[in-house]
Amino acid sequence: MMHDRLMALGEELSAAGERPAPPCLDPVNAAMIRNWTQTLGDTSGAWENLAPPAMIQVWSMPGLAAQKAGSVADDPLRLLNENGFTGVVATNCDQTYDRYLVPGEELHSTMRFGGVTGPKKTGLGEGYFVTWYQTWYDADGEQVAEMLFRVLKFQPRKRNSAPAGGKYPFPPTIGLDTQFFWDGVAAGELRIQKCAECGVLRHPPGPMCPVCHAAKRDHVVASGRGEVYSFVVHHHPPVPGRTPPFVVAVVDLEEGVRIVGNVIDCEPGEVRIGMPVELTFQRMDDEVTLPQWRPAGKPLEEPTQKEPLGPELVIELTPTFIISTALATRDYTPVHHDTELARAQGSKDIFLNILTTMGLVQRYVLEQFPGAVLAGMKMRLGAPAYAGDTLRISGRAADDTTIEVRGAVSLGDHVTATVLLRGGTQ
Ligand code: ZN
Repeated sequence: MMHDRLMALGEELSAAGERPAPPCLDPVNAAMIRNWTQTLGDTSGAWENLAPPAMIQVWSMPGLAAQKAGSVADDPLRLLNENGFTGVVATNCDQTYDRYLVPGEELHSTMRFGGVTGPKKTGLGEGYFVTWYQTWYDADGEQVAEMLFRVLKFQPRKRNSAPAGGKYPFPPTIGLDTQFFWDGVAAGELRIQKCAECGVLRHPPGPMCPVCHAAKRDHVVASGRGEVYSFVVHHHPPVPGRTPPFVVAVVDLEEGVRIVGNVIDCEPGEVRIGMPVELTFQRMDDEVTLPQWRPAGKPLEEPTQKEPLGPELVIELTPTFIISTALATRDYTPVHHDTELARAQGSKDIFLNILTTMGLVQRYVLEQFPGAVLAGMKMRLGAPAYAGDTLRISGRAADDTTIEVRGAVSLGDHVTATVLLRGGTQ
């Protein structure tokens, strides 16, 4: 019932096309640009007579005292809310910039509904993806920028709270039955338990032989060759210490037992059932190393055109940074400045707002390529960037006009973005 109503509503809204969005209260102006560059730490000096493109949404933010503005997606979001889909998380924010703006320009914007899809099972719970667009126009009615915004509206499930910090959060529990296994990992070996009486191999290790019930055990060292018996690709939710998407596989060892591990050193889409894999060891932190799997025979260093860019942009996420940037982007949502309220809503702390994340991705790319002109940014949003954490932004040039950017926090990827440059990196 709800699904049919939702789909009908989605089609109706999509067919309705553009409608006026809340007004851009002030013209593009130097004061707001200065607040923005100062709080985001943009010292490039590039914005004396230009507006940073990532500020586009700031010009149409309604402000603290404004009446809550109606959004084109309000009705479907309300319908979902009333039917138990009470959780919401932003998943995508894509912006395209037709041109840069200069102080003094008067803007207006429109919104249109972009569709609703689902139900989809996600790591957060079952939910629907709701998409809408906002388009900005100049005084002549020419489009200057457009944004796609997508949220997942989901039925929340109970989640384990995720620990923060640079340590791999799932160190192995080592007991009498598994000590030999982890001693093997430390020695660069994959050890399989073997019954010392009847010789049967078994994994995972246990105290007693399931065939002859002997308690005497021994082990053999595996060849490290096997093939993928089965696998899943984990996309969501973020897992502490891991970067989604990643592959969890059951690997058939040539010794005849199966073991669970990640398949690394390849794209998740390359993994197939029956694919030959070889043992590798992945260092998770200073203390934990895990046996993992990689495509058999694949050269260790994959030749690539993608050169890592210069030094990381490291942002210490102090409360001052999170609050001042939220205000400089005219985002007064309490989860970005009120710790108690953020915690009451299930967050660990206040967290960085999306408009600032966009700005930091822009800042990083333009620090690498000071002369470049941004044509657009496509962002996939991941783990929250909480106060007290550190955001590390790094990137690679996929080609002359495409920069892939990653912003990581201790919980995993906060954002992965593709930044498009107009006319290349020069
Ligand atoms: Zn036995």
